[in-house]
Amino acid sequence: MSTPNPVNLLDFDVDGLVAWFAGLGEKPFRARQVMRWMHREGCDDFDAMTDVAKSLRAKLRDVAVIRPPVPVRDSISADGTRKWLLDVGNANAVETVFIPETSRGTLCVSSQAGCALDCAFCSTGKQGFNRNLSAAEIIGQLWLANKLLGAARADAGELAPDLEAGEKDNGRIISNVVMMGMGEPLANFDNVVTALRLMLDDHAYGLSRRRVTVSTSGVVPAMDRLRDECPVALAVSLHASNDTLRDRLVPINQKYPLRELMAACRRYLERAPRDFVTFEYVMLDGVNDSDAHARELVALVRDTPCKFNLIPFNPFPDSGFQRSPAERIRRFAGILIEAGIVTTTRKTRGDDVDAACGQLAGQVQDRTRRTVRLHQARENMR
Ligand code: SAH
Ligand code: SF4
Repeated sequence: MSTPNPVNLLDFDVDGLVAWFAGLGEKPFRARQVMRWMHREGCDDFDAMTDVAKSLRAKLRDVAVIRPPVPVRDSISADGTRKWLLDVGNANAVETVFIPETSRGTLCVSSQAGCALDCAFCSTGKQGFNRNLSAAEIIGQLWLANKLLGAARADAGELAPDLEAGEKDNGRIISNVVMMGMGEPLANFDNVVTALRLMLDDHAYGLSRRRVTVSTSGVVPAMDRLRDECPVALAVSLHASNDTLRDRLVPINQKYPLRELMAACRRYLERAPRDFVTFEYVMLDGVNDSDAHARELVALVRDTPCKFNLIPFNPFPDSGFQRSPAERIRRFAGILIEAGIVTTTRKTRGDDVDAACGQLAGQVQDRTRRTVRLHQARENMR
């Protein structure tokens, strides 16, 4: 008979699993063995772990499970982008997106059901916030995508993505992970770091730090913690060139204004696996996309080694914003490039299945009652 509340082993990083195994009277190498079965082999059945002692397998069956989130919808875009809607219980669902490119495969992972930070142009933010995802629900997205894509790859006979010199071929189709799905990863710090450690660990996914990116809207104290506890590549959602504008577009700026954010970026770079921060900048027509904004940005980031990634705004119903025209984006990029800043414009991928940046809405039972408040505010304006 198994216990009524079994422990989900996907919730542990390697150290956590070793400690939990010690509680069962089991040696560290046993924990690492099970870790490899779970994450390298994608195994969720203790009985299939053939080199684990039968008695231990029986013990694990009694008290533990390996339980990833359950996919409830699988959409494939015309450009090959694939989006899964994952049930995370109590009528909440989050989204995970796989973006295939010629030389890499990127998985975009969610960290929260909804988001409390309410950026003006983001459909996740507009949905309100329900809860943090557990470590199992975060790493479970990679677990599941590997499994589902692995099967797809075997069918299609595709090759593993290109590797940089010195990198091992881990035989996986997912070469990069970006924490850019639903939620603010640094507002769910502990669970996100547990999942990041698994992404990096050789007993699990073995990705290099440079291939794992956390994107944050600028939770300054948590940026310092990430630097100290698990430095990976950093992307910062800048979106504005001055505090007045950013206070409006990214409200957390009211708490951690640009001067503090820039200083936090420079502190981060002291330990980061890459020698630049990527600034994400959503291009909103007539809002933040003028030549003057571009010049203001150049001055703002003068002392902070960085690259820019311009994101054409992805519309969603009632957003109140429009995408900047392509020619405007080109001129804006031109000013940054002219000033010596490496600048790319993100290709919009998967928008036919609502999988593009900022379109991830999942299904969120809002506990902040934001949608109710928004509705009331609209009613009051009538
Ligand atoms: N919460 C984190 C990570 C998730 S969002 C963050 O804000 O950084 C990933 C990126 O998509 C962020 O840069 C975010 O600002 C951007 N984004 C949000 N809504 C968007 C939209 N409608 N169109 C384009 N990009 C958007
Ligand atoms: Fe949250 Fe990021 Fe969306 Fe802002 S852009 S509301 S921080 S998910």
